[in-house]
Parts: sequence; C-alpha cells; structure tokens
Amino acid sequence: MNCPNCGPRSAYEFHCAGEYQKRPAQGAPERDWARYRYFRKNHPGEELEWWLHSKGCRCWFLARRVVASNQVVCSFWPHELGEPGTGPGGS
Ligand SMILES: [Zn+2]
Repeated sequence: MNCPNCGPRSAYEFHCAGEYQKRPAQGAPERDWARYRYFRKNHPGEELEWWLHSKGCRCWFLARRVVASNQVVCSFWPHELGEPGTGPGGS
C-alpha cells in the first residue's frame, strides 16, 4: 500500500478507519449527523476510505479501494479532495 508521505509499505503497517463521508455543516439536522455517524454504504465496488499509517508516520490519508478484490487503486491527502479535516473525526 502507498502512503502519500512514505511511499509503498507493507499493508500490515496500515489501519483502515472506514468509509469516507463528508462531514455535515455546523447546524445541520440531527438526521444528517446520524447518517454521517452510523450509516455506511458497504457495497462491493470501489470505496473511498480513511487510512492511518499506524506503524509508520502516523498520518491520516484517503485511499480508493475495490472492496471485492481488496485492491487499493490510489491514495492521497484529504486536502486534495477539499476535506478541511486531517482525520476521520474531522479534526
Ligand atoms: Zn507514512
């Protein structure tokens, strides 16, 4: 797997934090926050996910992965998607 900071590394160095979802705006309805917090698409196609290089630089990044084949298509920094946060909690 490719870390945007360190380059290609063993898949055992990484931790997946699940599907990426755009964080609701401040003051968004409770329904939007519940969907953001608890609901996942969980489909077998290509998914955008949060990943942590837990045994390396400890940076959060995003990766596109084909769930059915477990093939990582690409990885990149959250800001490249316009994501203001640096991790899955929006911090
Ligand atoms: Zn790294």
